[in-house]
Amino acid sequence: MNCKYRFDVIVIGAGPAGSTAAYLLASHGYRVLILDKSTFPRGKLCGGLLTWKTVKLLENIFQTTTEFLKSIGVITCSTFKYQVVSNTGTSFKSRLDYPFHFVHRTAYDAFWLNLACRAGADFRSGEKVISLGHLNSEGKITTDKGNEFWGKFIFGADGAVSKVRGWLASKNFIHSDWKSNLATALEVLVPSRQTPALPDYPHIYFGHIPWGYAWCFPGNRFRAIGICGLNAKAGRFLRNGYKTFLDSIPISREHIPTPASHALPYGNYLTNPGYGNVLLLGDACGLADPLLGEGIYYAHKSSQLAAEAVERFYFEPPAALPEYARRLNQVINSELKYVYIGRQIIFSLPGAWPYRMLTSLLKIMPKKCEETIQGQRSFKWFRPV
Ligand SMILES: Cc1cc2nc3c(=O)[nH]c(=O)nc-3n(C[C@H](O)[C@H](O)[C@H](O)COP(=O)(O)OP(=O)(O)OC[C@H]3O[C@@H](n4cnc5c(N)ncnc54)[C@H](O)[C@@H]3O)c2cc1C
Repeated sequence: MNCKYRFDVIVIGAGPAGSTAAYLLASHGYRVLILDKSTFPRGKLCGGLLTWKTVKLLENIFQTTTEFLKSIGVITCSTFKYQVVSNTGTSFKSRLDYPFHFVHRTAYDAFWLNLACRAGADFRSGEKVISLGHLNSEGKITTDKGNEFWGKFIFGADGAVSKVRGWLASKNFIHSDWKSNLATALEVLVPSRQTPALPDYPHIYFGHIPWGYAWCFPGNRFRAIGICGLNAKAGRFLRNGYKTFLDSIPISREHIPTPASHALPYGNYLTNPGYGNVLLLGDACGLADPLLGEGIYYAHKSSQLAAEAVERFYFEPPAALPEYARRLNQVINSELKYVYIGRQIIFSLPGAWPYRMLTSLLKIMPKKCEETIQGQRSFKWFRPV
């Protein structure tokens, strides 16, 4: 076996999750390989909204500041204002203490990947992983190019339609009710200069789809316009909801390209995040907020937890996954559980009531709601963290 193809950790997927884990481990001297089926820079369907907790985490992991990310164009705009709109015509507007930041995912993902490579990780693009093997010793990865790579640990950071998670589930190595809490999103990026009538701060729209919402997010070059809904409850309403939503905003159809669709974890977070030496991160582990769909923070955070578990138990590999699972359940899943309960209550209300309930909460306790969404409070009874 050629030594070139043996690694401490093979990371599958070079999104925020994969690049963060690769960066942390490569910085500490581990031999890391990142494989991605795409050629970078690549696009990723996303609204690109970053909350306060995300920028704080990025500062902590990468020692970057929002000012620096703005100066190099990774953060394309920041806004203190936001608005929640109902399909019946009413709306609620407010101002935040900390801004929401917006990124264009092509530049955002390429930036973290570049940092991981500069820290020493090897990167191979255009390598689609098609099979895994030997999961209790050194893991073997085979790609569509016929290449084989061996790693002491395998990180599945390959997104919401994860090959790695699918393969573990097909072997009954993990048990999850994945499909019933999966959402589908439709989104387009439209040039900001062609759509001057659209708002230059984030708008979230309720009532066009049950068990989901639509959005219009700002950006210096593009605005993101999209809709998402839980497949099991809203799948059949998605296309029609998208049309009625577009009819309700000031945009001419000629400026709207055909939307692309993408799966979004929406409450299917795994409490058993892997098997043997395989650890699942980010969307591949179902780690997105089951109400608002925020996933970038959880992608970075889960990767930090997984990297720490591997470093701690590098010489005792079977202990790494239980350590990761323990920390994941403590730090992330305990929060997602409460968002999930809130989501079930809010979205099971009929008609315009989800909008009314959310905006009532925002009116009654605006600070607590903001701080909870931004990550300064827990979703568990809004306690400070
Ligand atoms: C329409 C939409 C809007 C969203 N808006 C927001 C938002 O505003 N804010 C927010 O926080 N979150 C948002 N999210 C969620 C967010 O995009 C994800 O949670 C985040 O991208 C997860 O990062 P990741 O690294 O886990 O996966 P990804 O970013 O999906 O990266 C996975 C990588 O794996 C690669 N890959 C997949 N399969 C293979 C394979 N077999 N072999 C090799 N490589 C493979 C892919 O090419 C990709 O590069 C949104 C999601 C959607 C769909």
